[in-house]
Order: sequence, then structure tokens, then C-alpha cells
Amino acid sequence: MSKYNIVEPPDGYSAPGFFATTLDRVVGLARKNSIWPLPFATSCCGIEFMATMGANYDLARFGSERLSFSPRQADLLMVMGTIAKKMGPIVHQVYEQMAEPRWVLSVGACASSGGIFDTYSVLQGIDRVVPVDVYVPGCPPRPEQILDGFMKIQELVGNESLRRRYSPEYRELLGKYGIK
Ligand code: SF4
Repeated sequence: MSKYNIVEPPDGYSAPGFFATTLDRVVGLARKNSIWPLPFATSCCGIEFMATMGANYDLARFGSERLSFSPRQADLLMVMGTIAKKMGPIVHQVYEQMAEPRWVLSVGACASSGGIFDTYSVLQGIDRVVPVDVYVPGCPPRPEQILDGFMKIQELVGNESLRRRYSPEYRELLGKYGIK
């Protein structure tokens, strides 16, 4: 048995010595298997993410061992933990500094909805400041759940049209968050 995992080819047409597919699919294949995440971890969910990076769960298997602490070199913003209202503008700024195409994974109840902290100081979900692509439920979510959310992101990335980021719908979505 080979010790290497061979990535499945995208949908396309094949015959002996010939394979054809669309540019979207090829770019999607490359992007989904080389996502560079930016971990924005503030509390307990961040500890679960540390386990996700460890040898047992090993996010590196998905081509994502290279975490980016610079927004300009990241594809995926992973927000993990309680986000205070004061931190909302910072999350927004980090998102704005990321280059397109970019995706957002909200990990855990706190990031997704404020969790148990229905208080004056806690942001009741990061989708109030940035558009979220996938939500991971749980308090805390186990590393398996984080991996599941990550694989959902991979699905989105692999199937995204190259034109989506130029569409009026996408511009409108960003406009709602005050991003031009
Ligand atoms: S969702 Fe639960 S585990 Fe995650 S940061 Fe909030 S309180 Fe902590």
C-alpha cells in the first residue's frame, strides 16, 4: 500500500491518455488542499484547536500545517473563543487585511453566537462584524468537529466559481459589513 495519499481528480472527461476539466476545478483542487489558516484564538476553543494541530488529529494532513499569523498571507480566518465587543473591530480589521479569496470558520458557541455569555460586553456572534462561511457548534467543539468544519470549508473552496468574488451578490455581502 502506498504511504502517500493521492488527491482525487476533479470532475471532468477522461479517456486513455486524456483528461479535461474546467479551470475552476483545477484552481479549486489546488486551493482546497493548501489552505493557510489564521488562528484567531482567545479562549478555551483555542485549546481544542491546539489539539487539532497535534499529531493525533494533525491538520497538516489537509495541507494546512502552515499557520499564518499575518493576515496578508492567510486564506482562512478561524475564530475560536469568546470575542468581546471591544475586539469586534479588530476581527473586522484582520479580515479586511486578508487578500481575496478568503474564508471564515467560526469555531464554537462563543464565536458563533456569544455562547453562554449573553452579557453587555460579549459580541453575540462574529457574523456581526465579518461574513462567516461555516459554523462549528459545541462548547467546546472536539477536534473532530473542528476538522469537520475545516472539511466543509474545503468543500466550499473546491467548488467555488472563480467569478464569485467579482459578482454583484458578493460585493453586496461585503457592503453590508462596510467593506468596499
Ligand atoms: S464555546 Fe465554550 S469552550 Fe469555546 S470559548 Fe466559549 S466557553 Fe470556551
